[in-house]
Amino acid sequence: MNSFEKGPNCAGCGACLAICPVYRISFLERHSPRGKYHLLVKGLDKLPGSIADMMVRDTMTACLQCGGCASVCAAGVDVRSIIRERREKEASASLTVRKALKIMENGPLRGTGLALKLLSMFPGFQGIDSWSPAERPFLTAIRQEDNMLSVYPPPSAPVDPHRLKIAFFAGCVQNFMMPGVAEDALNLLSREIVIPLQQGCCGLAALSAGLTEMAREQAAKNIKIFSAIQPDILLTGCASCASMLSDYKKLFPQGDPLHEQAAWISDSVRELSSFLASEEQLLCRITGPFEYGNQTCLSDLLPFALQVPCHDRFSPGGSSDIQKLFERMGITPAITLGCCGFGGSFFIGNRKLSAGIRDTLVSEVRRAGVKRVVTNCSGCLMHLEMAYRKGDLGEARPLHLARFLSLLP
Ligand code: SF4
Ligand code: SF4
Repeated sequence: MNSFEKGPNCAGCGACLAICPVYRISFLERHSPRGKYHLLVKGLDKLPGSIADMMVRDTMTACLQCGGCASVCAAGVDVRSIIRERREKEASASLTVRKALKIMENGPLRGTGLALKLLSMFPGFQGIDSWSPAERPFLTAIRQEDNMLSVYPPPSAPVDPHRLKIAFFAGCVQNFMMPGVAEDALNLLSREIVIPLQQGCCGLAALSAGLTEMAREQAAKNIKIFSAIQPDILLTGCASCASMLSDYKKLFPQGDPLHEQAAWISDSVRELSSFLASEEQLLCRITGPFEYGNQTCLSDLLPFALQVPCHDRFSPGGSSDIQKLFERMGITPAITLGCCGFGGSFFIGNRKLSAGIRDTLVSEVRRAGVKRVVTNCSGCLMHLEMAYRKGDLGEARPLHLARFLSLLP
């Protein structure tokens, strides 16, 4: 029995319409969370091959898996899970999406250059191979001697066994597309961080596409690698990876042989902004002589737009970690932005809708006249960087939170 059959009923109130990025672009009822739910209720897809069936199939792809609908539904309907289960049942992920996921999964093994060359052949990724990233993926570049476990920076003295053990999860984009972001994050912390080099993709893109078995394989690999070192904190600089790692215990529920280890991983995950907001001394050191509330010394960075990724905005708890961090620092963005339209496989499979959502965000940036767009999600950063390189964002350079903080005076 899936979420749809056993779950709560949609009351048709429409509260989810305004928050759905797809509906806000198309204004088609069938693209709204309510519309998607009711298409399934009416069972229009029960006539295989019919126009109605094809329309339902097409509609099921028009979801970013952002989770916005579930966060506002008073009836407790979780359209995101219903659609994800449906995608899995129908094995609806296109060949293009499957191939792109395979490249992302094996990118670090293939090497940065070849992975980007292959990705650049996919719709929307054209030109990505000219980004001139580091020759080697981040996890290869930091390898020390023959170890499969690096400590960053290399310790000058034996690591204190009583100190909290922090492990780092890089994620695909930071590993082989934007390795500078992972370096910025680690340099900010300036303390020993343990980094297992065989870690892989978090599995979010596969799970969103309904490829649950692929996601479980990817997750199982990370669970085994990280639980072997038993970190107190599993830190990541990507809000989307953090959200997926937090869900490992659901992917391996009670009764699964991996459940206990998966729960350990899920419970120890911290996204960079949430970690920094809770570390008073570290935050003071990063902000340095900058006085809270005095923003005049930030002229190179201000005004800036803060892009709050869906996986931060709609994460359990209901408030955004990156917004809380900026509030703690007393730095106010000129404008706060929502969904960028990336959504992993959504970007590949729904080029028109994805571009429409991004164009709306781009217009907001241009209207606000900001110098920077700051985010804490690697996927959003990559998507925004594509817009910047096309000239759509004008002078507003996208920055990861870690780079923004490292540029503070
Ligand atoms: S899914 Fe929830 S929020 Fe959306 S129309 Fe139905 S009851 Fe209302
Ligand atoms: S998960 Fe996001 S994109 Fe999908 S139906 Fe819900 S609000 Fe819309």
